[in-house]
Amino acid sequence: MAQIIDGKAVAAKVRETVRVETEALKEKGITPGLAVVIVGDDPASRTYVNNKKKACAQAGIYSEEYALPASTTQAELMELVEKLNAKKDINGILVQSPLPEGLDETAVVEAIAPEKDVDAFHPSNVGRIMIGNFHFLPCTPAGVIELLKSVGVEISGKNCVVIGRSNIVGKPMAMLLLHENGTVTICHSKTRNLKEICRQADILIAAVGRRRFVTADMVKPGAAVIDVGINRDENGKLCGDVDFAEVEKIASCITPVPGGVGPMTIAMLLRNTITAAKLQNGVET
Ligand code: NDP
Repeated sequence: MAQIIDGKAVAAKVRETVRVETEALKEKGITPGLAVVIVGDDPASRTYVNNKKKACAQAGIYSEEYALPASTTQAELMELVEKLNAKKDINGILVQSPLPEGLDETAVVEAIAPEKDVDAFHPSNVGRIMIGNFHFLPCTPAGVIELLKSVGVEISGKNCVVIGRSNIVGKPMAMLLLHENGTVTICHSKTRNLKEICRQADILIAAVGRRRFVTADMVKPGAAVIDVGINRDENGKLCGDVDFAEVEKIASCITPVPGGVGPMTIAMLLRNTITAAKLQNGVET
């Protein structure tokens, strides 16, 4: 049976280091601040935003929420981003996705000042990650790397397969594994022989968004399996992309859903907020 990677416990450790660092920054007169913008009333987004605010409070990070109606115009949203870019007590800006239809998410992300882009979605930060000269790492992929390291999985030289090529998970995930010297393959909906490719993986990352997508016959015995997916099963319960019950029997370690990658995403967001506060105040990171 696989070792279950306890994302909650690893995230709690990261959050504790953030809390201690925040205290130290406050002694220097710096209070890290995060602005969270939510547009519309998507229930999942509301839950994420509430969790992020709670996590900030626990870590001693100042946070502000801007809850805008779904009828908000692009111009109004851009104006808010500009205001937050200029606000001295705000070091990080996060605009919760998805935005309601009709709003241009790309334009909003590009309007965020790169030094306040704690999601690391701005093209400038994406480019920095590409060349390995970055301030922030995107929260979910960075959290996955922490999880692998937490159970001693060596990435260097290993075959790493990422299923999914989105800009927020799949692509940056592949890049971070490459920075860790993994040999990386990215799969997507047009990939042929997906099963065979996945079976080569020492480290398999699923970021597809389809429940029970990764079945046991796709997994090499002894592989490390990280499940990024967040889906609902037929009973409405949260589940990932991996057929956990079957894959657990053959993997060496595996993340559950919930309690795996999810908690890490928030922990890494807090870490990025601290980094942003340091950068903006000339404190070494
Ligand atoms: P996207 O829908 O943007 O991307 C899904 C990817 O899966 C695409 O690249 C798509 O390929 C690929 N895919 C779809 N069908 C197949 C198939 N049959 N075979 C191979 N590849 C396929 O999703 P995200 O990357 O945004 O998110 C992925 C999952 O992770 C979701 O469940 C999301 O909720 C979750 N998530 C979890 C987070 C966390 O904190 N735990 C944070 C962010 C996301 P193609 O590009 O060809 O269409």
